[in-house]
Amino acid sequence: MPKDMRRDFADRAELVAYLAAEFPAAAAESAAVSATRGGRRAAEALLTAIQPARYASTRNFLDGAVTRLSAYLRHGVLSLAEVRRAALRAETRPAEAAKLISELAWRDYWQRVYAVIGDGIWEDREPYKTGLEAAAYAQELPADIAAGTTGLACIDAFSRELVDSGYMHNHARMWLAAYVVHWRRVAWQAGARWFLTHLLDGDPASNNLSWQWVASTFSHKPYVFNRENLERYSGGIYCRACPLRLQCPFDKSYEALQAELFPGGAPAATPPRRRQ
Ligand SMILES: Cc1cc2nc3c(=O)[nH]c(=O)nc-3n(C[C@H](O)[C@H](O)[C@H](O)COP(=O)(O)OP(=O)(O)OC[C@H]3O[C@@H](n4cnc5c(N)ncnc54)[C@H](O)[C@@H]3O)c2cc1C
Repeated sequence: MPKDMRRDFADRAELVAYLAAEFPAAAAESAAVSATRGGRRAAEALLTAIQPARYASTRNFLDGAVTRLSAYLRHGVLSLAEVRRAALRAETRPAEAAKLISELAWRDYWQRVYAVIGDGIWEDREPYKTGLEAAAYAQELPADIAAGTTGLACIDAFSRELVDSGYMHNHARMWLAAYVVHWRRVAWQAGARWFLTHLLDGDPASNNLSWQWVASTFSHKPYVFNRENLERYSGGIYCRACPLRLQCPFDKSYEALQAELFPGGAPAATPPRRRQ
């Protein structure tokens, strides 16, 4: 019989040391320890603080009123129904909770797709609509992306946040995934494996199918963004100090990006789009 794991620790450092010893392969991936606290009490504190109406109007901004509930939902500390009930309780008009509830529904939808296709979530569900064959995409994640040393302040910050905190805002996930697949021409599977290694909410269904949505193997268009979009939703915090701000690969119109990234003539994808 597998042994029970210890549950009592003098402090967090002892807990971290114990887990590193019990899971050496995971510890070898990164020495970073997320500041996120696990458990029901931490989850309830976040649940009490949700602001569904503000969520609806600000969720695309990096400093918007997102819930940070994903790790608790992923690991069953909270259920989707419980969050939906809390969202409805938090607003006097149910319509104000609708956006948050519709995002919860996306999690449910990806799970249902996963239940049907199983390991098929690792396969391209459809061909890329980028004008390129799947063989045009590299199989390995480039080392500079994983190490956060591309020189692009935004991309490197997202990469470090992924590894150090195990959490990323949805928009940052979309930008980073689009950079990996469309600017660097790396197969979405390589990026998906990287995310799953580090995300505390790492979930094969939500993760892989979102990567496929960005890549266009589970959507009708590739998702791309430009600098204007990133600056707007990040408050410009990365561009200001970026060493590559004068050679920014994102500082183009969508038409120019379309010609550069999708020479085969994929349809232009111009945010904001419904999934953002
Ligand atoms: C490339 C990529 C990879 C992703 N990988 C994961 C993953 O491994 N695990 C994961 O839980 N989510 C994943 N997502 C979806 C989404 O980014 C996260 O659920 C969300 O950012 C978590 O932060 P939050 O709890 O503050 O979300 P909020 O915006 O506050 O949303 C509340 C809850 O709704 C659900 N939700 C919100 N947006 C989505 C979405 N687009 N798809 C599915 N569920 C959503 C989550 O359960 C989330 O906790 C990924 C998205 C992208 C673009």
